[in-house]
Amino acid sequence: MNAMFLRTAVLLTGAAGLLAAQEQSLDSLKQAAVEMVSGRAKLTQQIVDSVFAFSELGYQETNTSAYLTGLLEKNGFKVTRGVAGLPTSWVAEWGSGKPVIGLMADIDGLPATSQTPGIPWHKPLIDNGPGHGEGHNAGQAVNITAALVVKELMQRNKIQGTLRIYPGVAEELIGSRTYMVNAGLFKDLDVMLSSHIATEFGTTWGPSGTGLVSVEYTFTGRSAHGASPWAGRSALDAVELMNAGWNYRREHLRLEHRSHYIITYGGDQPNVVPPLAKVWYYFRELEYPRIKQLHEIGSTIAKAAAMMTETEVSERVLGAAWPGHFNKPLAEALSANIKRVGMPAWSAGDIALAKAAQRELKVKEEGLKTEVQPLNERAENRMSGSDDIAELSWNVPTVVLRYPGNIPGMIGHHWSSAIAMATPIAHKGASAGAAAHALTVLDLLLKPELLSSAKSWFEEQTKTTKWQSLIPAGTDPPIYLNKERMDRVRPQLDKLRYDASKYATYLDQLGVKYPTTSKPSAAASSAGPE
Ligand SMILES: [Zn+2]
Repeated sequence: MNAMFLRTAVLLTGAAGLLAAQEQSLDSLKQAAVEMVSGRAKLTQQIVDSVFAFSELGYQETNTSAYLTGLLEKNGFKVTRGVAGLPTSWVAEWGSGKPVIGLMADIDGLPATSQTPGIPWHKPLIDNGPGHGEGHNAGQAVNITAALVVKELMQRNKIQGTLRIYPGVAEELIGSRTYMVNAGLFKDLDVMLSSHIATEFGTTWGPSGTGLVSVEYTFTGRSAHGASPWAGRSALDAVELMNAGWNYRREHLRLEHRSHYIITYGGDQPNVVPPLAKVWYYFRELEYPRIKQLHEIGSTIAKAAAMMTETEVSERVLGAAWPGHFNKPLAEALSANIKRVGMPAWSAGDIALAKAAQRELKVKEEGLKTEVQPLNERAENRMSGSDDIAELSWNVPTVVLRYPGNIPGMIGHHWSSAIAMATPIAHKGASAGAAAHALTVLDLLLKPELLSSAKSWFEEQTKTTKWQSLIPAGTDPPIYLNKERMDRVRPQLDKLRYDASKYATYLDQLGVKYPTTSKPSAAASSAGPE
């Protein structure tokens, strides 16, 4: 079978017989792809477990990035590292010519979400340490497994096209895609297939989530003795007044808005008037102009707080994203492939772990999802969080696969969302996701009409709404973020790395019995190295 020949012949003649032959060949390729993804389950598991064990925070995904790019190079991909001023980002490419198909997934973890996998109660590997409390450790396993399977099929059947794999660096900080778009990394890309861990197996099209701009305000004042503070001008006072001002203003903002802040620096000790203080805001809204407006209100209040305290204020945008808007033809194709792949076959052990975790969190003991989700069934949640994959969705036809690998009822950005993430639940979920992506890439390679309808839909979407960067031109990515925090825990994390040459799974390495469903008795646990 020569799929390229078939595709060309169909294009030239449009003959009905050849079209049928093409569909048959696509169908048999898809059949082969599903089997080949299963055949690579070991690799998928190793990637999921390795990235889980690295547990690196945004911009500091050094080991994660070295491991994944090394793996891609070993498999024939040409890798360009450190793109868009992001040391841990990369572009990995294989193949030649059109179409150029991108696969993307996040790689960063979250602070204070460290958790021993397979344990359904809070048991951190490192106290307050970083962890994969959102399951970003499985996404590149989905991409790489899918890409390697499709690559093999392309070679065997002489199918033309280019595969590109990109990471989502510092997604939790909404901190990389805008910089990557501005660096022109997606200019010649035809489509982007992204993926995100979920409890369900499905996809959506149309508007998704909120957009945001992430801004840090820095106030500078004058230091003085805390007990004779007359000469001083407190930068911390300015931060507190800004926050008070913002919280009063909240009542007069649209209900759709969301905003939150943390004080990143508030001084050193009480008897020194703080000459420096910093506060970091996320301003979320549903459209670009409203996000801009919210940011302007924030900056006005910051300036007012500076005037009240005779301090000075400067600001720095750290990250941003528009609200997402995902492609309908791509979502339809992906959804059909999700149905074809079907839900993973969960074992009794998988379900027992899920129920134990649900019991611990006092939520419905429903186990794991057993049916794929119909297209667009997920209620359009415009009040939710943001994801800078949205930046792609305004620059190239984009779709996000939500693949099952986590336990329903867990709390987002929390240790409980890490329980399943290096267990057979995540391994099987990542394999299912890889199969859905592989089939969709095959559709795009062999059905030119899918590509053209995705592009027409995208043109309509962007006809009147043109993407503009919410990050001012010339702003460098804040790659210093999380550096100190990660440097402190690296010695502990190094000891926790997954050694795939010695242990079948990370659970084996950690000595976690699967499934573990109940806490050891007090006597037994006091003897253990808690
Ligand atoms: Zn995420």
